[in-house]
Formats: sequence, C-alpha cells, structure tokens
Amino acid sequence: VTDIKLPTKTINPESDSFWKSLEDEWPNMQQCQSCEKWQHYPRVICSHCWSLNLIFRPISGLGHVLSLTDVFKPGHPAFSSSTPYRLLIVQLLEGPKVLSRQSGEQPLAIEDQVEAEITSNENGYLLCFRKKQ
Ligand SMILES: [Zn+2]
Repeated sequence: VTDIKLPTKTINPESDSFWKSLEDEWPNMQQCQSCEKWQHYPRVICSHCWSLNLIFRPISGLGHVLSLTDVFKPGHPAFSSSTPYRLLIVQLLEGPKVLSRQSGEQPLAIEDQVEAEITSNENGYLLCFRKKQ
C-alpha cells in the first residue's frame, strides 16, 4: 500500500490566519484584545473572557516541554515512513499549550527550553519545536 496520503489539516475561517502565518515563516496566534490572554487552537471567542475581540499576533516561538512521547506505531498509515517520531506538548511563554512534533535530533526532556521551527510536508507547513540553541 503505497498510495496513502497524509491526513490534511483543517482550515476554517478561524484557523486560516494561523496556517497562513506558517507560510509567511513565523507563527501567529490569537490574542484577546479585552483580557490580553492568548489562545491556541484558534476560535471565534476568547476561551478566557468570551470576548469576540481577537487578533492574530506573532508569538515569541519560545516555550518549554510539558510532556513528550515517542510514537513507534503510527496513528495513521501515512506516518509509517516517519516513524518513530516524537510528540510534544509545549507550554508557550504566551500561555497556550501546543501539541506538536519535535524537529531536530537533539535529546529532549521534560522542562527543556524549546523554540519554534516551521517544517513542511506534502500538505504544507507545520509548527514544530526543537531544543533551544
Ligand atoms: Zn479574553
């Protein structure tokens, strides 16, 4: 079975600006203009104060590893060629927690500082994190 395609991302009016920011080489996330808190994934409404006054702004790209796991059995057959891979939950400096993949080969542990790195595959650009230099 060689014709299996990678699952595609879901682009909707709320997430479009996030995905476009990856194409423009730096991740933007939603910040509420009422309470100033950040959120990710993108939504119509602020998850903290329910304001509708949200804008996309560049994030620092910095955070630390809250959790990680190495995946040896892919959750989708199209990931077989990149298995094993490492999944991370990153706590961004801005506050949101992001489920992502590790880029780079450096050893990484819980609490390590990481920085954003935009990678790409056949479906476009992805937000990954690597150990901070
Ligand atoms: Zn808010």
